[in-house]
Amino acid sequence: MSGSLNLYRLQKIDSMIDQKESRLGEIEAILNDNKALREAQKKFEKAKSTAKQIHIELGQIVNKVEAQRIKRKTTQASLFSGKIKNPKALQDLQMESEALARYIAQLEDEQLIKMIAHEEAEKIEKQAEQKLEGLKVASIEENAALLGERSKLEEDLSKLRKEKDAVTNSIPQKNLKLYIKLRKAKRNVAVASVTDGGCSICGQAMTPADMQSIRASNKLVFCPSCGRILYNG
Ligand SMILES: [Zn+2]
Repeated sequence: MSGSLNLYRLQKIDSMIDQKESRLGEIEAILNDNKALREAQKKFEKAKSTAKQIHIELGQIVNKVEAQRIKRKTTQASLFSGKIKNPKALQDLQMESEALARYIAQLEDEQLIKMIAHEEAEKIEKQAEQKLEGLKVASIEENAALLGERSKLEEDLSKLRKEKDAVTNSIPQKNLKLYIKLRKAKRNVAVASVTDGGCSICGQAMTPADMQSIRASNKLVFCPSCGRILYNG
């Protein structure tokens, strides 16, 4: 009788340890894998690099426009300097100036389109950054709760392991070996209590003779259906 009592206590402690360890594993997994945050980070970095690239391209067009304007100014200056008298040379300069003006207009169109694209890219970058920051704040709050739960679980587990040691020390080696073997075979539950005249795990009803042997026997009694050690509470 006392044999099954200590095994039953051990089973209760082990079940609590199993449950807490399982929750601890879940918490570790959440803490190590925040998919939403990782995705938001990736999106933000991509938006940032796109905006940066467009900014560089815009700068190149601005420089190009500036260079062509200087070129045109030089052409205009020559054209109106009065130093060039040759009509053919003057006509060439005039044509060059007009060609430059057309090219500048074309570049300015490109610049405008690039500016609009740049503004849009910056807007997207800003939105991605805000989303990321929001998720970071939420994650810190969520993690704080999880970290609290984790330290409580670790505390509980350390207490339970001490209790387990104490109970384990009072169980004969032979019974302990059997318990460990049964726990492995029976989905972590080696000991069943008898409630309402039946096995609490599989529901098998006990005959009066079974009940008597559970109460009286110094040996361990097993559920005739699921094979677990029976404890009459
Ligand atoms: Zn059973």
